[in-house]
Amino acid sequence: MKILPYIVIYFLALTVSMASSTKTGWKDKLETGKETQAQKEPERNAPIKALIVDGQNNHEVWPKSTIMMKQYLDETGLFQVDIYRTKVTWKGDREKEYLPLAGVGETEDLEKPQHDPGFTPEFKNYDVVISNFGWQAANWPEKTQKALEEYMYSGGGFVSVHAANNSFPDWLEYNKMIGLGGWGDRDEKDGPYVYYTNEGELVRDPSPGTCGSHGPAHIFPITVRVKDHPITEGMPEEWLTTKDECYAQLRGPAENMTVLATGKDVSGKAPTDRHEPMLMVVDYGKGRVFHTTLGHDDYSIESVGFITSFLRGTEWAATGEVTVPIPHDFPTAENSTRREFELKADKQ
Ligand SMILES: [Zn+2]
Repeated sequence: MKILPYIVIYFLALTVSMASSTKTGWKDKLETGKETQAQKEPERNAPIKALIVDGQNNHEVWPKSTIMMKQYLDETGLFQVDIYRTKVTWKGDREKEYLPLAGVGETEDLEKPQHDPGFTPEFKNYDVVISNFGWQAANWPEKTQKALEEYMYSGGGFVSVHAANNSFPDWLEYNKMIGLGGWGDRDEKDGPYVYYTNEGELVRDPSPGTCGSHGPAHIFPITVRVKDHPITEGMPEEWLTTKDECYAQLRGPAENMTVLATGKDVSGKAPTDRHEPMLMVVDYGKGRVFHTTLGHDDYSIESVGFITSFLRGTEWAATGEVTVPIPHDFPTAENSTRREFELKADKQ
């Protein structure tokens, strides 16, 4: 009479044990001996909660690039994505038809970036926070800065995309999170230049000088420097961007930072003759940061190299692991590959 419930429980237990043994095998491959990962096991089937923050960026693509990044994350089936935006925005006009798609209510676009005292995202409700802010973004409220610091220090995830590394030059802890920054009057007081020489030597150069430059946007080669990191594992050693800016002469605290991949400006108007950091990871407290300097405009963000590294980097920042695969259309040393963005009709 009461056999049926026991059979159900038996099969449930069997399913759970099979699922967990599969995970363990897969996990060992990527993260050998990391005991802390075991604590995350029960959450593995829950969506990764991601928050994109934006509103003030000198790159006028930002209302569109936020939606592009959200759609890329949604399409993996791994993420649940929210957007939090400043009420007063800057440079939101070019792509204004994308503004309502964020579902954040009314915002007002201004001539100059303006401080928003009501910008108070609940970072702690998310596994990863993605910044689509840019150069000259107004400072966040102090309590929001502190909230991000505490969130990251206690094990949060943060992703800096392209000009997000221009933001907040005077916020020391932010600069520690991103490792390297550009522009905003940064110079030798903010930390060394970090780059690879043409001979493959990693250099930290404290010499005086300005910070942040780039040649014209163009297709350029990325060289993977750390091949066994979960984000880069399986990528070809060299691959091409789409038309993008090769950021150069970045500098910053660069503490607990690993340069995963570098870019070489081949435009003929390169500001440096060296390989500049493009993909980086930073340990900040117990938190994980993924920093990509790629992503100048929509054509850059359509790059399969951008999409793949962004998705893998975001998953890693959130969980310390990567399950997003390297796709078949990933670029090579000879071929730049791009997926034209098509907005999904079911967006609100
Ligand atoms: Zn740019």
